[in-house]
Formats: sequence, structure tokens, C-alpha cells
Amino acid sequence: MSENYERFMQKFAELADIDHAQALLSWDQETYMPAKGTAMRARSQGTLAGISHERLTHPDFVALVEYLKGLDLTGDQAVNVREIDRAQSRALKIPKDLIVELRQTESLSHEAWVAARKKADFATFAPWLKKILGLQKQVAHLVGFEGSVYNAFLDEYEPHARAEEIAPLFAQLRQRLVPLVEGIAATGKRPATGILDGEFPLEAQEAFGRQIMAAMGFDLEAGRLDIAVHPFCQGLSPDDVRLTTRYSVDKLAEALFGTMHETGHGLYEQGLPQAEGGTPLCQSISLGIHESQSRLWENMIGRSRPFWQHYLPQLQAYFPEQLAGVELDSFYAAINQVETSFIRVEADEVTYNLHILLRFELEMDMVEERVQVEDLPAVWNERMEEYLGVCPADDAQGVLQDVHWSFGLLGYFPTYTLGNLYAAQFFARAQEDMPGLMEQVAEGELAPLKRWLNENIHARGRRSTAGELVQEVTGEALSAEYFIDYLEGKFKPLYSL
Ligand code: ZN
Repeated sequence: MSENYERFMQKFAELADIDHAQALLSWDQETYMPAKGTAMRARSQGTLAGISHERLTHPDFVALVEYLKGLDLTGDQAVNVREIDRAQSRALKIPKDLIVELRQTESLSHEAWVAARKKADFATFAPWLKKILGLQKQVAHLVGFEGSVYNAFLDEYEPHARAEEIAPLFAQLRQRLVPLVEGIAATGKRPATGILDGEFPLEAQEAFGRQIMAAMGFDLEAGRLDIAVHPFCQGLSPDDVRLTTRYSVDKLAEALFGTMHETGHGLYEQGLPQAEGGTPLCQSISLGIHESQSRLWENMIGRSRPFWQHYLPQLQAYFPEQLAGVELDSFYAAINQVETSFIRVEADEVTYNLHILLRFELEMDMVEERVQVEDLPAVWNERMEEYLGVCPADDAQGVLQDVHWSFGLLGYFPTYTLGNLYAAQFFARAQEDMPGLMEQVAEGELAPLKRWLNENIHARGRRSTAGELVQEVTGEALSAEYFIDYLEGKFKPLYSL
């Protein structure tokens, strides 16, 4: 048996090496590659993807996985075989022609979306979205699912999650957050956010960002920070984790919180079980769990009062003129302004999840054929009015604002809100385990929280599913209560509600 398992691990290590090369190529494409390099890069990525698919679905490898599945493996061996089996059966069920058609459609559809958004004209994008939806549904039926067909979409980003379990959590959010948003709007209170929009030299922004990264415990000998138009984190291995951020001279908050967000992702990648490098075990669990790590640092720490108790004077030292005389309370209020807007990516902590909720509901309605693609703009605007009390002026501000659907990413949006829910539940547990946690944060001590996350979440790698992890770490199933409590506890006092 052990000889077969070793052969299995060696085959997987080769697949992981191909993955590594692909990840590095895509990091380079988003950061340093000259614009004209696109065509050649697309070709080499395509070739590597083909080689990877061939190896994963090679009859010998399939037989080997089948054999190992028949054995009563336990512990880490069982996890590795389970994860490869998952990837392999998915790859085997989808014919190559369908994959090729899907990729081509996605790239054409993306172009159509760019043009449609420019003209704010959903009608020209609608046929493409319909086509993508049709192809993705074919994939869903080939791969198989239980319950709603939407589960097949979800499973790609949040393995083992089910729409039937998420829907009630999201409905609970809607019930509690819509009145909170209305209540905040009704106060008419608007913090002075002008202090964040002065002129902030980029070098100083970067220097401060790097200081916070170091305080959070990000290891710069096992990672980098670069600039990208759309910030992201690419973990090549726990020893090579690449973060990106972007700076605007007149928007202090953008890079500040963007960098903390990506560092949260980066700490997860650096904290994955090193000894299991190059195996499925050394991978993150899901997009939702990944997002929980970034949101916890960005919002629950980075937008907390205790954090700025320590770090505001330091930030002021970098920007002595711009931030002269800024009081802690006004800074804290400014970085936590709640304002309803049409645009998801500009949304604050409270309204953000209503944007996601709307997308989740529309995706379910599309996939389960309750809403026709042509009717999306109308339904979108109606629900924006209902949830956020605002109605987009045109499709560019509404249904066409996100890139996701144009790339066929259906089932992706819910992971953002799941990330917030996981984060709040983990954070509540961390505070229970370490009663002095926020006092430490107020002294600029971030290492204890990082250690807690390392031990309780990162080091487990992919041994558990997201649902199991929440249960194991917090002693209960995922609940929306922690996040709602967190939001109410923070924003009611801020807006004197
Ligand atoms: Zn993120």
C-alpha cells in the first residue's frame, strides 16, 4: 500500500509543479508583463492547462486513485486521496470540447461585457450571459449535484456548501441589515471623510503599509508586495506568497485597507502546513474561508478603534501636515462611514452584504429559471430599491457593474458574505480564548491574534471542510448571529442608534 501511496504522491507533486508554474505566469501577467505579452502568455497557459488535465485524467492515475479509495485510509492520507478524487472525477466528467467552448465563450463574453458596460446597454450582453448560463448548466448536470442545481455552481468555489443552508442565513441578514441601514440613513449623520482625501505621497503610504504588514506578522522573506490594478494574493507555496495592492495619492483608505486585506490572505497562505507542501493538504479550504482571513484583519482589526488608538499617531507621523490635529474618534468615524451606493466594491461593511445578497438571489433565480436573463436589469433595480433604497440610473451602475458573470463566475459571490460570517464567528471565539485581545491590539500587539489564527485555522490546511472547520473551531455550526451582533455592536454606537 505505502508504495502505491508514494507513487500517488509523486504523481500529485508533478501536478502541483505545473500548477506552480501556471500561478507564477498569472502573477507575472497581473504585475510586470508588458501589454503585448498577452497572446503568447495565453498560449503557454493553455498548453500547461492541457498537460495538467491529461496527467490528472490519465488512466493509470485514475486506476491508482480508484485503488487507494478502496483501501481504508485514515488521517492525512485519506484527505489527500479524497481531494484528488474530487478534482479527478470532475475533470473526467466534463468533455474537453465543452471546456474549450466554455473558455472561448467566456473570453468573447468578457469583451461583450466591456462594450456593453461602456454603453450602459445590458441588451447587448444578455445573449452572452444566456450562452454562458446554458454551458455552465450543462457542466453542472455532468458533474452532478444534490438539491438545487445551484449547488454545482457553488461547489466550485465553496466546496460542500449548499444553497439550502446559505439561503436562510442570508435571509436573516436581510431582515436585520435592511432596518439597520435605514436607521443609519435616518440619523442624517455624516462623518467628515474629507480627512482621508487629501494628498498623500505614495512612498509614505507604502512605508506605512509595510509597517502594518510586518506588525501583522507577514514574512517578507517568504513573500512580496507589488502593485496591481486589481489587487490580489497569490500563494505559490507557504514560502512564496505574493501580495499586490494599489495606491491613489488622494485616497488614503484605499491602499491602507487594501494592503491589510491582502495581508490577511497572505498570512493564511504562509500559515498552511509547510510539511505538507505540494499536497492537497497544504491548500486553503475554500474562497469563503480565505475571505474570512482578509476581512477579519481588514475590518474587525483594521477598522476598529483599539487598532487606531495605537496606529493613528504613527500614521500621523507619516503624514504630519495632512493629518494634523485629527482626533481618534473622527478618524474612526471617517473610516467607518456607512453610505448606501449602487456600487458593490465601494460599499461599507454594513451595506456590502446586501449587494451580495441581491446577486446570490438573482443567480439562484437565473439558474433555477425563475427569472429570465432579459429581465435581470428590471429585477436588479427593483431589489436595489427594496434593500438599499437606491435605484441605479442605468445598467452600468446596476446589473453590468461586476466582471464576474462575464467570466462565467456564477456561484462565486456568496463566498464574500460567507467570508464575513466565518470571520465574525472566528473573531468571537478568538476573543473568548484571549480575553485581553483587543487591549493587546490597542498597544499595537498583533502577534497573539496571528498565532491564534495560525494554530486554529491555517495549520489545519485542507483537513476539514469549511463547515467542519467552523464547528471544530467555534463549537457550533455557521450562524449569522455573530456577524449581525458585530455590526450592531459597532455601528449602533457610531451612529447613536
Ligand atoms: Zn479578498
